[in-house]
Amino acid sequence: MMDAGGHWRNWVGNQSCIVRHRGAPESEAALSEMVREATSNGLNVRCAGSGHSFTPVALTSGLHLTLSKLQGITNIDAARKRVSVHAGTTINTLGKALKANGLSMINQGDIDSQALAGALTTGTHGTGLTLGNMASQIVGMRLVQPDGRVLVINDNQPDMLDAARVSIGMLGVISEITLQVMDSYNLHEKLWRCTFDECMEQHDELAATHRHFGFFWCPVPESRHCYCLPDTSSVSTTTSLSDVCEMKTIDITDRPPMESAFEKIAYSSEIYPIEYVPNFHELEYAVPVKYGKQACMEVRKLMLEKHPTCIYPIEYRFTAGDGGWISPFFEQDSITLSVSGEPGTDYWDYLKDVDDILRQFGSRPHWGKLHFLGAEDVAALYPRARDFKALRNKLDPEGRFLNDHLRQLFG
Ligand SMILES: Cc1cc2nc3c(=O)[nH]c(=O)nc-3n(C[C@H](O)[C@H](O)[C@H](O)COP(=O)(O)OP(=O)(O)OC[C@H]3O[C@@H](n4cnc5c(N)ncnc54)[C@H](O)[C@@H]3O)c2cc1C
Repeated sequence: MMDAGGHWRNWVGNQSCIVRHRGAPESEAALSEMVREATSNGLNVRCAGSGHSFTPVALTSGLHLTLSKLQGITNIDAARKRVSVHAGTTINTLGKALKANGLSMINQGDIDSQALAGALTTGTHGTGLTLGNMASQIVGMRLVQPDGRVLVINDNQPDMLDAARVSIGMLGVISEITLQVMDSYNLHEKLWRCTFDECMEQHDELAATHRHFGFFWCPVPESRHCYCLPDTSSVSTTTSLSDVCEMKTIDITDRPPMESAFEKIAYSSEIYPIEYVPNFHELEYAVPVKYGKQACMEVRKLMLEKHPTCIYPIEYRFTAGDGGWISPFFEQDSITLSVSGEPGTDYWDYLKDVDDILRQFGSRPHWGKLHFLGAEDVAALYPRARDFKALRNKLDPEGRFLNDHLRQLFG
């Protein structure tokens, strides 16, 4: 049963829509029936996760779904270390359930409040030169089709899995995901500050010798406060507070939990997330790893020389390539570089200048973060874009799972 419509906005408040109907199904069967009813009445359908995307990916004027009542683990295959999870489960909830079962996700990003399907379908990633994005951990999915049928995909259909793992919700409403996980592990996190030059000198070695390495470049002291970064002055190799990098390495350890000023050991899912408040509008692109340092140096120069008032940090991380047809990391080991504009200011010239720089390196955007891609760029940047569009059109010929933003890119 679909509910009356209303207004929806995303977490940070830069995207909103007026929807005809809302739905919060409590079972896959109820979800299927809602989708069937909506499409048979000529309505389009989008499902939101926790609304943490900065792009219009979750918007619709038709049926707007949430799977917040479809949460929890449905099956654990202990021998193969695989878990099946309702698609609306938040990453935080999943982490706790895995811990209770002696398991951990292979990698996670900076927050854990996203719905699992929402995070995976945009290509959400953490950091680690040898670690793929979170969707690369998918080994099976169930997707509700426009007529309410359930399409089941498993690892006997590698092509379908690669099409669906990052698909921005365009191949159906995901009702369940099966993930490859691993035995539970503790992580040891270390934080410190150094100059930008020191960071660039140590970049290759730190990326190669730690499971996770990433940093925030802060042009001015206030930059740290934009993202609530801790004050690492006491473990700094520089006395400067400007033009510095807030560094982080994380590695698996057998040691028990501990916490000191800039070092912490805890269960994996408790180490990954950091705190953010909705005070930024973010752009992020995946840059081929061989161009990472050059791209970072050029964006830093742009910020210092042309946009000195843009002081949100650059966040810089690593992600291994994967097979996802429209994954930002398709067959390309990458660094990810993000910058942010301050809500309420006109930051578009700045973000476009960053886009101009990153474009030169063949970079691909995070689908959940601001970008400037058009349909021609999609065709040029994703070798399997044509296959993806053909499959999307076959599964959903009337484009019921598209919205204006996605139709322009993939219609
Ligand atoms: C503070 C903050 C920190 C972040 N940190 C990171 C990070 O560390 N790494 C990173 O890569 N990204 C990060 N992101 C981006 C974020 O992970 C992505 O935008 C992610 O897609 C948001 O998940 P969500 O559950 O909020 O989904 P939403 O933003 O609500 O939706 C994202 C997409 O998923 C679709 N969708 C949701 N559920 C379903 C479903 N069941 N079936 C089909 N489609 C569905 C929606 O229609 C939409 O297209 C961050 C964002 C914020 C605001």
